[in-house]
Amino acid sequence: MTQPIQGVHHVTSLASSARGVDSFFTRILGLRRVKKTVNFDAPDVYHLYYGNGLGTPGTVITHFPFEGAKRGRPGTGEVSVTAFSVPLGSLAGWRDRFLGAAVQNLREDVHFGQNRLLFPGPDGEVLALVESADSRAPWTGGGVDADMAIRGFHSVMLRLADTAPTAQILAFLGYTETQREGETLRMTLPDNNGAGIVDLEISALPMAVQGAGSVHHVAFAVADRATQDTLRANLTKAGMGVTPAIDRDYFHAIYFRTPGGVLFEIATNPPGFTRDEDPDHLGEALKLPRQHEHLRQRLEGGGLVPL
Ligand code: ZN
Repeated sequence: MTQPIQGVHHVTSLASSARGVDSFFTRILGLRRVKKTVNFDAPDVYHLYYGNGLGTPGTVITHFPFEGAKRGRPGTGEVSVTAFSVPLGSLAGWRDRFLGAAVQNLREDVHFGQNRLLFPGPDGEVLALVESADSRAPWTGGGVDADMAIRGFHSVMLRLADTAPTAQILAFLGYTETQREGETLRMTLPDNNGAGIVDLEISALPMAVQGAGSVHHVAFAVADRATQDTLRANLTKAGMGVTPAIDRDYFHAIYFRTPGGVLFEIATNPPGFTRDEDPDHLGEALKLPRQHEHLRQRLEGGGLVPL
């Protein structure tokens, strides 16, 4: 099998406030809201997508804001750090930007040889900016200029009781171990969309309890449905319980729980976020999945917090 995966497609997190998420990811991080829709299974809850100008796979962080939800309890079997890539030399500017926006508890370190700034997201989740040479075009319409703007995901770090079973799944998806720092493994996809790194850290914490601030799942990108079908068959043959392909309007998705506890999704690049909106107006109107269109009046009339 040639390498089926192209890198991370999107990362989806749980949150406690739609407005909190919206203001943090657009005004502070300068990402573009590329889609305002609702959770397929809970249409009273938004599904908000933030990324680069077109929401290119590998740049998109999405949220399910359950208003007033309790925070999760960090632990194993989940994403511990979601990291974005920023230009070399830009972290000092980001530090000033965060301090100006009253984002506190910043922490700088060097992680696998790269300068990294860790900061808390709107629900206390651990996010990071990593300086790296990254040729992806940034969105600059959100008030952050090109010399600082986020390029997309740099990596995700998974916190696990044992790294071996998850490393094995990643190897199955085409990742190879490229570096090791203490007990943390870095696995990289040789040919990738810019978001080709997954770090695996080992921890003695109990299993995480999901809640606001928790990453719900990590989605990996494939070129098309045929690749997804083949990968689904191969994962099933390897003993993984994989869902059938589900139409998520902007991509087709399959899901499986990895042995380490993290929920993985495989998502197709097409059709993407311009499927139902003009590229100049992405993320502005409330888009509803067809089966929830009849709820529009109620949702727009106060069922959802206006954004
Ligand atoms: Zn997803």
